[in-house]
Amino acid sequence: MAAKRILICSTPVGPLGSGIGGGVELTLHGLVLGLSARGHEVEVVAPEGSLHLGGRVHQIAGEWQASSQSAARDAPVELPPRPVLGAMWDHVRRHQHRVDVVVNLAYDWLPFYLTPFLDVPVAHLVSMGSLNEAMDAVVEQAVLDRPGSVAVHSRAQADTFPAVADRLRVIGNGIAVERYDVQLAADEPRYLGYIGRISPEKGIDDVFAVAEASGLPMRVWGLMQDERCWSEAGARHPGAHVRHEGFVPTDDLQAAIGGCAAIVMTPKWVEAFGNVAIEAMACGVPVIAYRRGGPAEIVVDGETGFLVEPDDVDAVVRAVARIDEIDRVMCRQRVEERWSTTALAERVDDWLDDLIRSHQHVR
Ligand code: UDP
Repeated sequence: MAAKRILICSTPVGPLGSGIGGGVELTLHGLVLGLSARGHEVEVVAPEGSLHLGGRVHQIAGEWQASSQSAARDAPVELPPRPVLGAMWDHVRRHQHRVDVVVNLAYDWLPFYLTPFLDVPVAHLVSMGSLNEAMDAVVEQAVLDRPGSVAVHSRAQADTFPAVADRLRVIGNGIAVERYDVQLAADEPRYLGYIGRISPEKGIDDVFAVAEASGLPMRVWGLMQDERCWSEAGARHPGAHVRHEGFVPTDDLQAAIGGCAAIVMTPKWVEAFGNVAIEAMACGVPVIAYRRGGPAEIVVDGETGFLVEPDDVDAVVRAVARIDEIDRVMCRQRVEERWSTTALAERVDDWLDDLIRSHQHVR
């Protein structure tokens, strides 16, 4: 199909580059790079203060949306008094005739609700599993009204929306592999890594438990979202040597993590994808993960890391002891084949073409 004009609408929880948006920031970056490389014209709408990630970024003023991870299942839809989310979608409304398709990355009710009021087709890429009844309802409605308009990152994530699971398109994710240097051997003495937001759903307590039980130091890179969960985990596992290295930008992160013997992913929720798994593998670092959510669809057990029974810390520790069985070159290769921005953009391009075609049909 011909070159498309694509407008990507970012998450309203914070500006690009702040880390507040978690994996969505990297997804957006991957989409901009991959789709631009295929000859498409890509622009981004994002909260004011966002970094420019290759494409043109329209900076929108307004108050950030609260993240939905910690809200109750029956929580109402909430907006602050001057919501950046509303302003971002007002921008979409005013500029929709200049583009062929809008890609929505916000895990929020409003963009789904507004879609039928717009002329332009909107492709919704849902970044988390089911968390909230209001979101579930509006996602289901979008799937029923506009088949093919909603995609997710993994099969496990789709399954958290049982009413429409088989009608959600699974597109995985992708990173600019060439920006990650592969390190063929782990640093000595050995240490493990955890990369991600410091927040209860990420299983921080188990990260400390693994450090304590394995006797290996643990280095942690990520945004401190919940100080309390960090200090409580430290108190519960006094034998754990865990060091917080802070939140670092992607380029610094990739340079820092290559020496890890492995990274551990012990999430308590269904991780929609787990970008950090492919980032670590791109550096040659194997991943030891619970067989739960996205990481279970990324890690090939025994080849690019190990998958263990969810919540079984001892099983993680046993996998750590076997880490030299993993070929670090294989980890890198797997990302090049499946999880590059090129591979992602190919899958997304097909999705957008299908959506544009069916939209023309409906209109
Ligand atoms: N990240 C980062 N700097 C850090 C730690 C993490 O930029 O110091 C990024 C990482 O590159 C990844 C994101 O934070 O893209 C975490 O995404 P993931 O999908 O693993 O989890 P989420 O936060 O979306 O639940």
